[in-house]
Amino acid sequence: MAKIHTLPAHIADMIAAGEVVERPASAAKELIENAIDAGAKNVTVELQNVTFLRVTDDGCGMAPEDAETAFLRHATSKLRTAEDLEAIHTLGFRGEALAAISAVSRIDLLTKTADAPFGSSLHLEAGVVTEREEAGCPNGTTIIVRDLFYNTPARLKFMKSDSVEASALLSMVQRQALAHPEVSIRLLRDGQEQLHTPGDGKLLSAISAVLGRQAAKEMVEVNSRFEKYALTGFVSKPSATRGNRASQLFFVNGRHIRSKSLTVALEEAYRNRLMVGRFPSCVLQLTLPENQVDVNVHPAKTEVKFLRERDVFDCVRYGVQGALDRANGQVEMQLPKPQKTAPAAKPDFFRTMRAEDFRAVAQTLETAPRVQPSQAVKDSLRPAQPVEPPAPQPIYTAAAPEKPQPEKPIATPEKPPTVPEKLPETTTPPEPAQETSLLHPAPDYRLVGEVFDTYILVEQEKKLLLIDKHAAHERILFEKFRARTEPIMPQLLLTPILCEPEREEAAILLENQDLLASLGYSISDYGGGTLAIGQLPAELAPEDAAATLSALAVDLSNGKRDDPSDLRDTLLHTIACKAAIKGGWRTDAAEREALVREVMSRDDIQYCPHGRPVCTVLTQAQLERQFKRS
Ligand code: ADP
Ligand code: MG
Repeated sequence: MAKIHTLPAHIADMIAAGEVVERPASAAKELIENAIDAGAKNVTVELQNVTFLRVTDDGCGMAPEDAETAFLRHATSKLRTAEDLEAIHTLGFRGEALAAISAVSRIDLLTKTADAPFGSSLHLEAGVVTEREEAGCPNGTTIIVRDLFYNTPARLKFMKSDSVEASALLSMVQRQALAHPEVSIRLLRDGQEQLHTPGDGKLLSAISAVLGRQAAKEMVEVNSRFEKYALTGFVSKPSATRGNRASQLFFVNGRHIRSKSLTVALEEAYRNRLMVGRFPSCVLQLTLPENQVDVNVHPAKTEVKFLRERDVFDCVRYGVQGALDRANGQVEMQLPKPQKTAPAAKPDFFRTMRAEDFRAVAQTLETAPRVQPSQAVKDSLRPAQPVEPPAPQPIYTAAAPEKPQPEKPIATPEKPPTVPEKLPETTTPPEPAQETSLLHPAPDYRLVGEVFDTYILVEQEKKLLLIDKHAAHERILFEKFRARTEPIMPQLLLTPILCEPEREEAAILLENQDLLASLGYSISDYGGGTLAIGQLPAELAPEDAAATLSALAVDLSNGKRDDPSDLRDTLLHTIACKAAIKGGWRTDAAEREALVREVMSRDDIQYCPHGRPVCTVLTQAQLERQFKRS
C-alpha cells in the first residue's frame, strides 16, 4: 500500500491554523485586520475568559453567497492574480485566516451588506457549516469565536494563563489602534473597557489613548520624506526614555512589523542623547511603494523585507534625528501637582498653650545644647565684597516701577580655574562692564548663583534654569573633541599598563587592534589573559585607560566595529566625562560664567553625551502654581 497520501482538507487546515493562529491574540488580530480591510470605522473586540472572542465591525459586510466561501482555504476577495501579489494594499491577502480559525473553534457569523435587506447568520464547527439562516442584523460583520483549540488538545496545552493571553491580546489591539488612528477601536475584557481610541485620524490621539496622556505629551513629531519613502509619527524626547524597547512600534504601510534594522536606525538617531540602558519609544509609520517591500516572508506577517534596506535605514535615522534636532527644547522640571484644596489646618495649630506646657517646653529648650556655627559657615556667610546696603524696596506695592536691574559684573579671580577656589576675602576690582559687553552681547539672562556645588541657577525671562555643571561641561568638551578633524594623538607609555579584562573582551580587543590604533590605543597580548597597554589616547589619564578600553570592548561586541565613528564617540565620551568638572567640586565665578555662556548660546548641548539633561527649567508659572498665586 502506498505510504504517501494527501491530507484531508480539514487536517491540512488544522496544520495551517498552527501557523496563523497561535493564540487568542493572533486570532483576534486576523479578525481586526479583516474588519479594517472591510472599511470599518468602528471595531469592538470583546474577550471573555479567553475562550470567547467577539469582533464586531461596521464595515462592508458580506453577501450571503460570500459568507460561506470566506471560510474556505485560499478564499479571498483581495487578490486575483499573481501580479496582485506585487502590490498588496490590504492587510489580508492569503485567504487563510477564517479557514484556519474556524478549523480549530466554533464560530458564529452575522453579516450584512448595506444594500441587502437581510443579513446572514452562519454557525460552523471545526470549519464545517452546521447552520445557516437569514438574519436581521446591522450593516457590517460580527464574528464570535468560541472554544478556540477545543479540537487540538496539544495546542490548548500550550496556552498560557488567562492573564498572559489577555495581555498579549491587549498589546496586539494597541498596535492595531496605533496603526489605524482613523478607526475607533475598543477592547472589552470581561465587560471592562481596556482601550478605546477616538478614531479621529490623529495619531497623537491614538498614542494618548494607548500609551497614556503623559507619554503623548513627551513626544516629538516626525514628518519627513526621502524620495518615495515617507516617515511620519512620533518619537519620545530624549528625556522621556524607558528601560526597555517595549514601546518601540514600527508600522510599514499600515502593518505592524518587527525589524532589527529599524530599531538600530531609530537608536542611531538618538546617538549621544541617551543614557546607557535607556531606550526611546516611538510610533513610526513608514510608507513606501508596495513593490519596495515584501510582506510575504512570515506567516504572521510581522517581518518584512525591504528592497532597499539601506535607504529605509537612512530614512528612519535622519528623519528622527532631524525631528529631535528641531525639538531640542529645554526639559521642564516635573513638580507634584499642587493640591486643589488647602490641607485642613491642624486642629491644634493655633491653640494657645497652657501655662505648664509652655514652661515644660521652655525648660527643654534652655537645657538643650546649642549648636555653634562653625568658622567655615561664618566665613561663607561673610559677604565676599562690601555690599552697599540695599535701597529700601517697597514690598507689595503694585506701583513699584519695573526698572531693569543693572547686572553686577562678577569678580574674576586671577588664577587658573583648576585651583580650588577659596572665597575671595578682599575686593577684586570688577572688570569694566563695557569690555565684557563688547566681547559678548549683553546676555538676556542673569546668573543667580550655584547650589550644592553642582547646579548653576540662571534666571531668563520667566524661567529659572538649573544647569548641571558636570553634564554641561562634559557635553561642551565632547563637542569640542568631536569637532576636531585630526586623528586622535597617542601618548607612549614608558611602562605599559597591564589590565585583565574579561576573556571575551580581551579577545575582541585583540581582534580589533588596528581599529584601536586609530583611536590612539596600542595593546598587546601579555599572556595569561592579561593585556598590555603600551600607548593610549593623549587626552586620557593613564588611570582611566583600562576602564575606557573595556567600554570600547562592549561597543565592539555590540557590532559597532562597522562604524569607527561610533567607537570614536565612545572614547570621546569617556575622555570628556573624565576631564569635565564634577558635581560637588568648587568652581569659581569665571568658570560658572563661561559654562553658562556656552549652554545659553548653543543648542547642541541640551543633553550630556550619556543623555542626561544639562539644563532643567522651572517656570515662573509653575512656581506660582506651587505657591497658589495663580
Ligand atoms: P484574507 O483576509 O486574506 O482575504 P480571510 O480568511 O481573513 O482572508 O478572509 C476571507 C475573506 O472574507 C476576505 O477576503 C473578505 O472578503 C471576507 N471577510 C472576512 N472578514 C470580513 C469582514 N469583517 N467584513 C467583510 N468581509 C470579510
Ligand atoms: Mg484576513
